[in-house]
Amino acid sequence: MFRRVIAMVFMAAAVCAARAADGADQVPQRFDGYQVVTVAIPSWETLAEVEKVCETIMNDYPGPGKLDVMFAPGRLGELDRLGLSYVVKIEDYQVLIDNRDTPGARGWFDAYHRYSSPSITDDIVDYLEALATTHPNHELATMLNVGNSVENRTIWGLVIAGANVTPESPTVLYFGAEHAREWIAATVPTYVATYLMDQYGTNPVVTDLVDNVRWVMVPVMNPDGYEHCWTTYRLWRKNRRNNGGGVYGVDLNRNWGEGWGGEGSSSSPSSDTYRGPSAFSEPETVAIRNLFDTYNVRAMIDLHSYGLYIMWPYGYQSALPAHQATYLAHGQDMQQMVQAVHGVTYTIGPVYSTLYAASGVSVDWTYVQRGVLSYTIELRDTGAYGFELPANQIIPNNQEVLPAILYLANTDWVRLPIRFEFPNGLPEVLQAGSDTVVAVNIVAQYAAVVPGTPQMHYRYDPAGAFVAVPLTSLGGNAYQAVLPATNCLSTPEFYFSAEADTGVTVSSPRNAPAEVYDATMSTGANGFYVQDLSSNPGWTTQGLWAWGHPTGGGGQYGGPDPTNGYTGANVYGYNLSGDYTNSMPEYHLTSTAINCSGRNGVHLVFRRWLGVERSQYDHAYVRVSTNGTTWTTVWQNPNADTTDTSWQHIDLDISAVADNQPTVYLRWTMGTTDGGWTYCGWNIDDIRLTSAECEGLPADYNGDGNVDLPDYAAFSDCLTGPDGGVLPGCAIFELTGDADVDLDDLAAFQRLFTGP
Ligand SMILES: [Zn+2]
Repeated sequence: MFRRVIAMVFMAAAVCAARAADGADQVPQRFDGYQVVTVAIPSWETLAEVEKVCETIMNDYPGPGKLDVMFAPGRLGELDRLGLSYVVKIEDYQVLIDNRDTPGARGWFDAYHRYSSPSITDDIVDYLEALATTHPNHELATMLNVGNSVENRTIWGLVIAGANVTPESPTVLYFGAEHAREWIAATVPTYVATYLMDQYGTNPVVTDLVDNVRWVMVPVMNPDGYEHCWTTYRLWRKNRRNNGGGVYGVDLNRNWGEGWGGEGSSSSPSSDTYRGPSAFSEPETVAIRNLFDTYNVRAMIDLHSYGLYIMWPYGYQSALPAHQATYLAHGQDMQQMVQAVHGVTYTIGPVYSTLYAASGVSVDWTYVQRGVLSYTIELRDTGAYGFELPANQIIPNNQEVLPAILYLANTDWVRLPIRFEFPNGLPEVLQAGSDTVVAVNIVAQYAAVVPGTPQMHYRYDPAGAFVAVPLTSLGGNAYQAVLPATNCLSTPEFYFSAEADTGVTVSSPRNAPAEVYDATMSTGANGFYVQDLSSNPGWTTQGLWAWGHPTGGGGQYGGPDPTNGYTGANVYGYNLSGDYTNSMPEYHLTSTAINCSGRNGVHLVFRRWLGVERSQYDHAYVRVSTNGTTWTTVWQNPNADTTDTSWQHIDLDISAVADNQPTVYLRWTMGTTDGGWTYCGWNIDDIRLTSAECEGLPADYNGDGNVDLPDYAAFSDCLTGPDGGVLPGCAIFELTGDADVDLDDLAAFQRLFTGP
């Protein structure tokens, strides 16, 4: 963690501003001269000290690292007392408030609005009621009383449901303003509701989504806090629970019941991350929780600001969710969709590793306890305006997240009664001559799987018919499929199907066979270079790089080293018995030369166990060279902490550098690192180079360069006799051009036979 050295900003005023008084005060507190500064905070302990002296911490997930912190005039000296340096981000918060657009001047989405007030006719609840009563498609919408707040306000939602929606239909839930001051988050559910109703009947995607999925939109989960921001104290975050002693509020997004009470939540009632006396102690979290009992909620987004993140479980622990691959794939899709609208990039990842630990958050409880595909989005922007995001960004911000919101509602997780998962991924390259095993899980989402119906359908000739083979049940929801061995002439395509007990047949991909999975054939898919590190290959090491047995040491931050290799005892690691060090230069592990002549589509495949701080601070690289002098970086750690706690499968396309090169060098680099915080660093094992070429000889079924006994065994299975045609995968034995694999092909095969 780099700590900037910044000159103290001279403060003329030394008035010590107390926190806003609580009570019925209806004059909003002013923030004249209040500054927001960015501070690098080294530990949870220091963070607790800062929280005592600041006005408020602006970040949604406060934790050690760089935070935006607001100070009352004259209070910045407290940071000097704590020995912390900072840079000023906002000079005078009141100026931002004074510049806020007021409602009523233009369209609804050109200003922020009150939640509900008898004296105001264009508050958010009025707007929802208008959608449900006077909008041309108002019959789609129903006002929903979600429950009451601590101060007895009704938490209003809007349910949008079209022709086919039944009580059991899949449901998506989008809610905002769990944190009161995050006003932009309250605009998204209303914007999306408006869009769905405006587009229904004309836009086929929207019409399908509204006719078959129930949409529950709750703009303001925390109405008491939200109104308190308008009337009394603009920077209020929590609900309005009276904790006694003049102290108010529970952080609703630390009050959910999974991992409640852990790291990244506070037991102190005065803290902005106070988790409450027990999980679900607050009526607001209970009200939203009850929606999961009322409806078949399949996906949700909890909307917050600010920071530009799309995140998923877990918040309370570093372990990755069982469905990390699904979360990541959908997260990447949503990131790209959002980016395509206005060019704004949202960082993606699990809450814990992307930002900081946070316990008792909505995404963890809904995912673990209710099997919901749960995301949280941190909307615009990155804090230049604090929570006063200019109103002219409301529409652009909604425009950019809208495609992601529609996308999530259309995922298999939501739309299908049963769902296919592929725990080891799907094969993209098949090794010629070898069976390929595919692990399949079929998850009963809101229907059961009819026994005996799961099938794989495959073909090796795009003009041929699909062959259906039953999946082998391995117990529970686990199945196995086998793509039978075939040869280099094949173009494999496949899909899966199973019947739900609702009578619906579900396929993967969803619209198969119009869309199918495919793979390419290879004779190098198993690796033409394999280094399992069971013995020392004698690569060049610098610094603390070493071959040997890791000892599970280190992990000042992140997790410790492994205690074994992925296979066998040994690995290459940076410091086999602990963390990397602070302020180190780049230290390299460099392979000997590897011959990639005649190899195309080369990939570097290896197992990784890596701990490294985000790239803002510390660095890890994978590089490739053809001469050992000039290096191409093919991977570097992202600007989010990397904290592997298990061996990761890494597949890097290095074809641009390595294809057809007689000397290829591989390099793993640790460093540079900054002056604080160490992690366990690199551990690698089971390094392979694979290639994609498939240049079998005629009749060389397995592509090993010989026409020999294994090929003869395959020929026997392909032999059909005259007029028997060519079986799937047997085209390589149709040697005489008569469209049958018969005795004249056997004679041709014998002439080609070379032996091993
Ligand atoms: Zn928030």
